[in-house]
Amino acid sequence: MKDVLERYGLIPRRPEVIDSSMLKMFMDCPSKFYLRYVLGLIRAYKDHVDAAKFDWGTCWHYVMEAYYSNELSLPHALVAMEQNYPEYITPSRDRHHRSKERMAEALFTYHDKWESQNAEYEVLRNEQFFDVYSEEDDLRWAGRVDQIRRRKRTRRIRVWDHKTSSAMGDLYFTSHELGFQFPGYVWASDQVTPGEVVEEITIDVMYMIAKTTDFFRRTFRYDAFRKAEWIRNVKTILDRMDFMLTNHLYDPGAWELNWNECTRYGACTYLPVHNTAPRGDTRLRVLGNDYKISRWDPRRGTSEGDEE
Ligand code: SF4
Repeated sequence: MKDVLERYGLIPRRPEVIDSSMLKMFMDCPSKFYLRYVLGLIRAYKDHVDAAKFDWGTCWHYVMEAYYSNELSLPHALVAMEQNYPEYITPSRDRHHRSKERMAEALFTYHDKWESQNAEYEVLRNEQFFDVYSEEDDLRWAGRVDQIRRRKRTRRIRVWDHKTSSAMGDLYFTSHELGFQFPGYVWASDQVTPGEVVEEITIDVMYMIAKTTDFFRRTFRYDAFRKAEWIRNVKTILDRMDFMLTNHLYDPGAWELNWNECTRYGACTYLPVHNTAPRGDTRLRVLGNDYKISRWDPRRGTSEGDEE
């Protein structure tokens, strides 16, 4: 099977380290995990409708990084916005009517709303990448946290995560609280700040739709029991993943398809592959022709070969 894959330029590679998006994708659809993180494939062309939600959020992250790295400096944040704004997101093309001007207005609103609350914290680290192994928990985990802060009054460390959203239903915060991303951030921050116990994370959200912009913050706490529960669950899933990687690295057909996920949140990027009947090498041909290699590295937060 290795030869057949190579014929279509497909080279399976076991990921060196796992982060929360990889784990979540394995849970959602093992086949999707295989295509994205083992074969390392993304679509060869960029779909701007799909990309807009990611590029908008990425730009806001750069803005926040510049703002907090320079003592709440609006000029620095605006420069970061100029440098990173995805110019194709304009009111005429975007269904939420987002624009560079709206992001700039949002930045000033954010500054006014949170300035006094921000003064309660000292920012210890911005954009902290981690790749940690705990001997005690026998777990290796990688990723990036937006900030690590210290609350001046209590001296407690708190992780900080910036998000952008245009859909905030009743369960928006609960879904983040119960997902595996946040406890993973807290666990990893605990490992990189020796001598301190880290248990809290704040989600700092910019919500923007066509009619309105608003900002919300919510804090979640992961004590030792919740962290232990996270570790147990993550390790169970990692064991399943390891089994698949060890036994089926060169066999795309062995990775389960979860058809419930194909059209959730818009169509899955691999829908054209699985929409093709599994006859002979047809799917491999689609993968070889319409997808390109762009391997994700959670330790750097980038993919090799990504388009600018
Ligand atoms: S199209 Fe469906 S089955 Fe295929 S990778 Fe995507 S979610 Fe999985």
